[in-house]
Amino acid sequence: MKHCVVTFLAFLGCAAAAQAVELHGKMIQGALMRGIVAPGSHVTVDGKELRLTPDGQFVFGIARDAGSDVDLVVTDPAGVIEELHLGITQRKWEVSRVDGLPEKTVTPDPATLEQIKKDSAAIHAARRQAGDETGFEEKFLPPVPALRVSESFGSQRILNGVANAPHIGIDLAVPTGTPVLAPASGKVILAAPDMVLTGGTVMIDHGYGVTSVYAHLSEISVKPGDVLGQGQEFAKSGMTGRATGPHLHWGVFWFETALDPGLLTPVP
Ligand SMILES: [Zn+2]
Repeated sequence: MKHCVVTFLAFLGCAAAAQAVELHGKMIQGALMRGIVAPGSHVTVDGKELRLTPDGQFVFGIARDAGSDVDLVVTDPAGVIEELHLGITQRKWEVSRVDGLPEKTVTPDPATLEQIKKDSAAIHAARRQAGDETGFEEKFLPPVPALRVSESFGSQRILNGVANAPHIGIDLAVPTGTPVLAPASGKVILAAPDMVLTGGTVMIDHGYGVTSVYAHLSEISVKPGDVLGQGQEFAKSGMTGRATGPHLHWGVFWFETALDPGLLTPVP
């Protein structure tokens, strides 16, 4: 068994491992990592087996709260095992106070709470459909030409004074009506005009567990099953749902692990 210790590099692949696995991305909390091995290999991350494309590509996510390292094990078609012990850069999270949100979206009444649960179930069900698209291999583009990020990924949220779950996406400040473009190709798996928290909401499947979500949209021009090319418009931004001003909320997931879209493409 060969061992190879790799840390925080834009391109990973030390001399001993160069022929077995190529890994792309920064090993940091919230990152989407992509890699390639010989077709027919097996790859596990902390014991979880990853699905490979026929040409040997794979993808995995590093959670916001991931620990200091991860084990990547590659077994090539001949049965040779390579074990990589990868360090994960730990981040500090901002505290974000948002006031003036519609009160029913922060402390919902029973009927609204029921609807929030239904919305959430639909979002999780859509995520489970993630299929064989290969858009995850593309270099992601920004979905809107934002001038600033109004709230970053991972912040600890205090909404109308109440402690809430961390922010699992980034908020890009753009005027209502800004065209929203697919950052990578994929298939639409959810298109809902009016969810309680996320307002007009679209989800795109980029394959192999990678999905993206767009919230607070004012207009949606696609339906589930539609296939989008990279850069194709599918909606217009707005401030529907739990929002105090016009912006696009953009989230990227690997299965149920929320990732930082700001690590995938340059944002202000
Ligand atoms: Zn947001």
